Amino acid sequence: MSVVGILPWQSALWSVVTEARANEKLAHALLLAGPAGVGKRQFARALAQALLCESPGARGTACGQCRGCVQFDAGSHPNLFWLQPLYDEKNDKQKRDISVEQLRDLGEKLVLSAHYGGSKVVVMDPVDALNVSGVNALLKTIEEPPPKTYMLLVSERPMALAATLRSRCQRLRFAPPSDEQARAWLREQQPALTGANLDRALDLAQGAPLRALAAHQSGLLEQHGKWRSDWLDVAAQKRAPTAAALAVGKDREQVSAWIAAFIAFLGELLRARVGGPQAADLGTIPSRVAMPGLQAMLDEAFESARRITTSASPQLVVESLMIAWWRWSMARGGASG
Ligand SMILES: [Zn+2]
Repeated sequence: MSVVGILPWQSALWSVVTEARANEKLAHALLLAGPAGVGKRQFARALAQALLCESPGARGTACGQCRGCVQFDAGSHPNLFWLQPLYDEKNDKQKRDISVEQLRDLGEKLVLSAHYGGSKVVVMDPVDALNVSGVNALLKTIEEPPPKTYMLLVSERPMALAATLRSRCQRLRFAPPSDEQARAWLREQQPALTGANLDRALDLAQGAPLRALAAHQSGLLEQHGKWRSDWLDVAAQKRAPTAAALAVGKDREQVSAWIAAFIAFLGELLRARVGGPQAADLGTIPSRVAMPGLQAMLDEAFESARRITTSASPQLVVESLMIAWWRWSMARGGASG
């Protein structure tokens, strides 16, 4: 039997929630808001188990032994409703929205399960995946909550949610841990992730440890290393910008990850330019960078990040960004140092 634990940097948030619960002041709708990869989903799982546990222990943690915990562990608790966008078999990927049918189905099940007593937990993972009619349906449920029902709404973009929804929730703010905590946790999870790779993983993930770990495990980090050497080669006039662009491919998601990595790379140049730590492979680039030029490059990269969410051709977006990068390094007379 297992108890879902929280992550080391979440104890303060856990105390807030469990103290509120102990004082019977826990809101029926909680908004778990924060960037990707900081552990919102794991916290939601731990809290869901604790809320469904029939005899939670000290600090409000699930006991791992009772009927509720056994059913939770088996993934068959009748009062846990975990809503995610469904998998679209036709297109072989997850749909974008949590559908209105899913919400209607949830509404019916909530009414039925009221007969069994005990707490009920609904997790919207993520609530950002609700469309307008979904939000309206959810608002109705929140305004007249079925007894002992808790809604855990996971969101990466809380400011994009309807204000009417936000204002009815108690907000729990999730942030990346300190650099030290993130490194300690990553070392524990993945002892092989060290040195420059560890730095890069955290940089790429903007300090979010679970995202950094995923980048390492999915091979994205290795991929990132190849992209990086291409950028350096283009800047040193050793590789044609079009060849570097071609190597990225045409897949929109891949290109989107590539742009995010390029933005992080420019950020690294900026920090090095103003005297921050500098990776050895950057050579003399930062010292020869003019700030306005670098800022213009960043603007161009952010514009590419916007364009890739439209119907613009991914290949063209990559190509024009690489050509801009190449021109920029040409204008500075090469960056090979
Ligand atoms: Zn239990």
